[in-house]
Amino acid sequence: MLDRRSFLQLTAAGAGLAAAGGLRGQAPRRPNVVVIVTDDQGSADVGFRGCRDIPTPHLDSLAANGVVCRQAYVSHPFCSPTRAGLLTGRYQQRFGHENNPAWLPADTVAGLPVDQVTLADTLRGAGYATGAVGKWHLGAAPCFHPLRRGFQEYFGIRGGGHDYFRQQLTGEAREYLIPLDRNGESVAETEYLTDAFSREAGAFVDRHAAEPFFLYLAYNAPHTPLQAPPEDLARFAAIADPKRRTYAAMLSRVDAGVGRLLATLRARQVLQDTLIVYFSDNGGPLGEKGNASGNAPLRAGKGSCYEGGVRTPWAMQWPARLTAGRVYDQPVISLDVFATAAAAAGAKVPHAIDGVDLLPHLTGANPAPPHERLHWRSGPSWALREGDWKVVKPGQGAPQLFDLAADPAESRDLAAAQPERLARLTATHDAWNAELRAPLFRSPQG
Ligand code: CA
Repeated sequence: MLDRRSFLQLTAAGAGLAAAGGLRGQAPRRPNVVVIVTDDQGSADVGFRGCRDIPTPHLDSLAANGVVCRQAYVSHPFCSPTRAGLLTGRYQQRFGHENNPAWLPADTVAGLPVDQVTLADTLRGAGYATGAVGKWHLGAAPCFHPLRRGFQEYFGIRGGGHDYFRQQLTGEAREYLIPLDRNGESVAETEYLTDAFSREAGAFVDRHAAEPFFLYLAYNAPHTPLQAPPEDLARFAAIADPKRRTYAAMLSRVDAGVGRLLATLRARQVLQDTLIVYFSDNGGPLGEKGNASGNAPLRAGKGSCYEGGVRTPWAMQWPARLTAGRVYDQPVISLDVFATAAAAAGAKVPHAIDGVDLLPHLTGANPAPPHERLHWRSGPSWALREGDWKVVKPGQGAPQLFDLAADPAESRDLAAAQPERLARLTATHDAWNAELRAPLFRSPQG
């Protein structure tokens, strides 16, 4: 396996060749890649998954013009580890990224380990312009900055969340009030945060429409704090629960931003050649501290290895390659974005990854499921899915066995009825678990 430095040197040479080929007009147009991630959006809270009280016409258009993956997962039930898995294509526990890093700018351990090659490194090495907009949450120290992880441009918040209206421009700001960061410099921002991210995403496309580009657009909405512009709150006056009303307004603003981005891609005449992937980083958080999101009929929510914690809405659009309006029912996972994007771009995958290129599966060229099984581990809890069977080991208590085909809500534990199946799947988990390392850092308290 190449280390990150060798890989970057090797691919820098390749990028020069690719650019030269483009100048001669011999290289076919490679697709742009846009990855849109929302934060703590409930798995039921999008129109194409049946949501009724929050219209999401633009997210729904991704589904209508592309493929909906109905059994889509993220690799972790909360924020930062999912992002680490997304950007490396690897189960993030393989390199100790199993928790959320605290906002500690002097801590050079709490972040996406610097020896890991990212999707941005990989696509940049293949000659792509690379940009990240939005929530980073992969380490606060300078060594973890997006500009050090393969992105040529960055605008956003580098912590795990943020106030949507305010920032603290002087003194030592707390995580949710840190100044916005543009390419490593603190900048003042006056727009509602979601709108600022949408604006910057469009500006990135405007700057790079003439070349292949990779845009990672990570909204922190609809993560708490629940804050929305008054005009959007007024539009949702019919929702009685004030938390749900605010959540709806926040999500609606994300949807409008996606609409703006699609309009820019269309205006620049690159929509046809753009692979767009959309999903939420984890299931909706339930309870008092939650954001009034919904995961029904799935069990539990953010933080849990039950379906409600790790299932996500998922749509992919690439008009030039993917037939519109398809539904795909085999399990896919956010780890697959790396392999899919790299394959679409013709980029060399730098290391052994856990994700697979979904395109042959989504086009029907490969009828087999992309994955024999999927795994999760979060502290003392873990889960494994193989076919329609799923084992969930809650933090407390014994492993449980579910048949997702008959029981998608994980309401009937079959562990006592099928001890042999449970034992075999538990042994399979144990073998995977032995490949992982201990967490390099702990989540902050509270
Ligand atoms: Ca999250």
